[in-house]
Amino acid sequence: MSTQLASVVIIGASHAGLGVTHKLLRQTTKASITLINPSDEYYFNIAAPRFLVKPESLPSSKYLFNIRDSFTEYPNDTITFIKGLATKIDYAKKSSHPEAPPPRPSGQGRLKLPFKTTAFENTRDAISAAQKTLQSATRIVIGGGGPLGVELTGELAEAPGPAKTITLISKTESLLPDAPTTVQRTAESLLQRKSIEVLKPVTVRHATQDPNTQTWTITLSTDQTITADAYISTTGTIPNNAYIPTTFLTPDGWVKVDEHLNVVDTETSLPDIYAVGDITYHPDRLLSRVSKQAITVAVNIVSRIENEYRPVRYSADAQMKMLVVSVGRGTGTGHLAGWTLWGCLVWVFKGRDYLTYEAGKFWRGRAK
Ligand SMILES: Cc1cc2nc3c(=O)[nH]c(=O)nc-3n(C[C@H](O)[C@H](O)[C@H](O)COP(=O)(O)OP(=O)(O)OC[C@H]3O[C@@H](n4cnc5c(N)ncnc54)[C@H](O)[C@@H]3O)c2cc1C
Repeated sequence: MSTQLASVVIIGASHAGLGVTHKLLRQTTKASITLINPSDEYYFNIAAPRFLVKPESLPSSKYLFNIRDSFTEYPNDTITFIKGLATKIDYAKKSSHPEAPPPRPSGQGRLKLPFKTTAFENTRDAISAAQKTLQSATRIVIGGGGPLGVELTGELAEAPGPAKTITLISKTESLLPDAPTTVQRTAESLLQRKSIEVLKPVTVRHATQDPNTQTWTITLSTDQTITADAYISTTGTIPNNAYIPTTFLTPDGWVKVDEHLNVVDTETSLPDIYAVGDITYHPDRLLSRVSKQAITVAVNIVSRIENEYRPVRYSADAQMKMLVVSVGRGTGTGHLAGWTLWGCLVWVFKGRDYLTYEAGKFWRGRAK
């Protein structure tokens, strides 16, 4: 007698999507899963500040993994991978529409670096192009004094090749605005020791690139103008929500979820649609949050499929507060459970290889 399988569609095969997929495949045999992603490679983007600036420091095998290869342990008929882009979620019809990735857009006011996978290009080509651009640039401006801005600046200060002049622009009075004061001060002093110019509190009014010379002109809130070979924006995550019904979104574009991570449509929790990871409205958009959320969603889906519905909850407030920021290979700063981290600990935990020892766990959905 054949058993009807529950059909589950998962959009996105990064840390969150792969986490949910593997956890479901391990916990139930009653689901048929379709996973949609524009690239067929899982990208461990966490190490991007290191390998974009120092290509020799990490081989691509440490941060790019074939998605299909992670499914070898499961029966073939339980998982279908589609290389494509979901362009619309039609909740009433319970369907999504995958399409081939669209052509690459042009004309953005910043150097486009592959901090995450994008919908319109081959990740390997994008990484290689970014590495070449950063290698040849000698005058670089970075807009955004959060963790990514600080990490990228620290790596650029140690970049091989011609010496670089680097300016970091921070909108806030202190770098790492959400961190304790000691961590903020350490970050700034480590960068100053690397001869980085830090401008704060200053914002970038606009940045334009001359199409002939490729030179950037960056105009600041102080009316100062800087010309540079590269302008990199690290001012925060932008919601990638074009395919999501607007009634699922907060005014600033993130997906509303309840404590079970079910999507909330206007005021109503939808029992059979979930959101996980950066796209949710939970403010800490961190890898360290993704696994807990993936576990929550997988357990809740499985318990529905198995007709034993006992939902588990996800509490953003209950998650441990931590921040680990490398400033170059050998040092950094951060905090964990109220303790400030010494530079040598940051080196052990992150600076040595930028957490790439964790990448395989995320690729196989085994991160906890
Ligand atoms: C450079 C960098 C360094 C970071 N470092 C750290 C760190 O040290 N520690 C930490 O905790 N966090 C860090 N973060 C944050 C971390 O990367 C995010 O929290 C994490 O990527 C969230 O994972 P996600 O799967 O929710 O989303 P994403 O990683 O954004 O993945 C979304 C996936 O969905 C796919 N997708 C998008 N739209 C569609 C569509 N329409 N159809 C199909 N697929 C689609 C994308 O291609 C992608 O594969 C860093 C972020 C960046 C950018």
